[in-house]
Amino acid sequence: MDPRHAILFEPVTIGPKTLPNRFYQVPHASGFGSLKPRTQAAFRAIKAEGGWGGVCVEYAPVSRDSDEVPAVAAGFWDDSDARALALTADAIHAHGALAGLELFHGGGLSVNGESRSARLAPTQLASEVQFGSLAKEMTAADIARVQRDWAEAARRAAGAGFDIVYVYGAHGYLVTQFLSPVTNRRTDGYGGTLAGRGRFWLETLEAVRAAVGDECAVATRIAVHGADGLPGIQADEMLELVAMADHLVDLWDVNVGSWPEDSGTSRYYPEGSQRPWTDRVRAATSKPVVAVGRYSSPDLMADVIRSGAADLIGAARQAIADPFLPRKIADGRLDEIRECTGSNICILREEAFRHVGCVQNATAGEEYRRGWHPEVFSRAANAEQPALVVGAGPAGLECAIVLGKRGFTAVHLIEAEPEIGGRLRWTRRLPTLGDWGRIVDWRAIQLGKLPGVEVITGHQMTAAEILGYGAGIVVIATGSTWRGDGVQPGRPDRISGADPGLAHVLTPEQVAAGKRPPGPSVIVYDTDGYYVAPGVAELLAGEGFKVTVVTTFPVLSPVSDETLEGGMLRAHLHRHGVHVLRGITITGIEPGSARGHDEYAEPWSASCHGTVLVTQQASKDELYRELTGDPAALARAGIQAAYLIGDAVAPRLISEAVFDGHRLAREIDLPDAAVPAPFLREHPDLASHRQRTVQD
Ligand code: ADP
Repeated sequence: MDPRHAILFEPVTIGPKTLPNRFYQVPHASGFGSLKPRTQAAFRAIKAEGGWGGVCVEYAPVSRDSDEVPAVAAGFWDDSDARALALTADAIHAHGALAGLELFHGGGLSVNGESRSARLAPTQLASEVQFGSLAKEMTAADIARVQRDWAEAARRAAGAGFDIVYVYGAHGYLVTQFLSPVTNRRTDGYGGTLAGRGRFWLETLEAVRAAVGDECAVATRIAVHGADGLPGIQADEMLELVAMADHLVDLWDVNVGSWPEDSGTSRYYPEGSQRPWTDRVRAATSKPVVAVGRYSSPDLMADVIRSGAADLIGAARQAIADPFLPRKIADGRLDEIRECTGSNICILREEAFRHVGCVQNATAGEEYRRGWHPEVFSRAANAEQPALVVGAGPAGLECAIVLGKRGFTAVHLIEAEPEIGGRLRWTRRLPTLGDWGRIVDWRAIQLGKLPGVEVITGHQMTAAEILGYGAGIVVIATGSTWRGDGVQPGRPDRISGADPGLAHVLTPEQVAAGKRPPGPSVIVYDTDGYYVAPGVAELLAGEGFKVTVVTTFPVLSPVSDETLEGGMLRAHLHRHGVHVLRGITITGIEPGSARGHDEYAEPWSASCHGTVLVTQQASKDELYRELTGDPAALARAGIQAAYLIGDAVAPRLISEAVFDGHRLAREIDLPDAAVPAPFLREHPDLASHRQRTVQD
């Protein structure tokens, strides 16, 4: 180990418990909650195995009137929940780490899609995010009951083996709703002054502390203002509250502002961006502090600890991207660390698909159901077969690496372009997307370490060449391309006049390659909804073009809302002079103009010198079709199997192309590797459930 990093491996005492080192996986959602207990246990255990000294489960509602359904939280209401999550505590302990549970109540932000209960809040005010119904203003009895629930949940957590229990007070949930004068307008003893607004939190901390005694450390998670601010709570006030509660807390888990700012993406927040705010907490407390900030650099982590501002390095996303980061630092294997790209695909997957995933680590969330380990690869039964992978985009790169790790001794990865990376060759050069290049950079380094894998660039493979190559296994990963004909969702016919051979019609790839509109005014037409249109728009605006993004969607880049970037992306483009028109469908392009209709089917047109079509991609699967079109020729060539992966199958998120490449290589020695093997699913344990009759 580099001696500069030794400080990261010192133990830290938190109340009655001792963390073995300073690496702390802060609570974060996974989509598993207490509903997929084995998936949860395996997902957290891998981090403990990889060296994280503290590993926490996500937000766990203490009361039935705080559910997140349809999102998944770790409901912690009764003994069956405790039994489910005890698996996780045990699995974390098996690797010598401490297990934490983030007990919480959502208050006015609860969804209650399952319980149908009225939401609870300090004051009956309309919520900015829960439309159509208001919360119930909590009575004194409600307050006492929720505090009782919290204490009982803490006892249950101690019984289930958890070492750290939280009173979660960040991200706008019930504790914050009491603390903030914007959401707390009470005139009884739970509102008004700082002491009044802090009373619910302090009483809850007292109740939890009394409930767990010396069995657990008590942590609390709070936000300290931040660049976006907190609703009504100034940083100085928050630090006063920290000092007031310090005697009740064993571990301060601190972050900033809102969730989008706290989980700020690499597009808008550099590593360690929270420090100006969270560093201030040190002065208000004598207890250990854990700070987050998408830390992936060991040097920076060690600097944070040496500065004294924090005692523990907290991570959610980096722990997903590389569960083995601490072990790699300990071993001095720094070039093996999978650095988080900060793209928030983990959050998109967890929120939209209820199952976390990661663009850097294809095994994230697959530990139980597919049995994948991020660092352990079994030798493939057919590893002696020469393998040829065509296309070094995210899918081909990942596939070649995993084949190499599974013991293949002759893998050739062939790329047509002079540089590897596929679509990332150009997307990583779009404004703000530089850190996504880590997807390629990490893979380039790992390929260099695998003696069985050879990378050949600048060579476009043909079907005839593949047949004569001598490979037993062929993997086609030729990706996709943006269509220049304007075919778009719901409109399978081309846009009239859309021809990327014309000077005034452009595809994103043409723009990346240097083609520019014939005049200063340009429309970027977006029916894709994610990062390409904003990236191209900012690039062109930066060069002085007058850019209007025209989109069919009601907001620009709706997918960016799933990655928490939507608000800042729109503000960012606005600051860069990009104009946006929403709810417009383009149906025709002429030199000098584009036309179509608005959301009311009224005609729409605008003059422009050029139009960039970010409408739809098309798989580049011709090579695969040609190759597999003649099975007899394949057999004569000794090719036992030819597979298609990544965007060449269907254009998708980069994370899904990486997953596809990884999946095929993991299953390459199964009888029909083209079809994903079945994975384990979790069904409720019917035996442990009481039967209920209608009369009950
Ligand atoms: P994915 O995300 O599925 O990996 P990409 O489009 O990002 O897809 O990458 C596909 C890569 O395949 C590109 O780098 C492209 O240059 C390369 N490629 C496409 N056709 C060939 C071919 N015939 N021979 C070699 N490389 C190819």
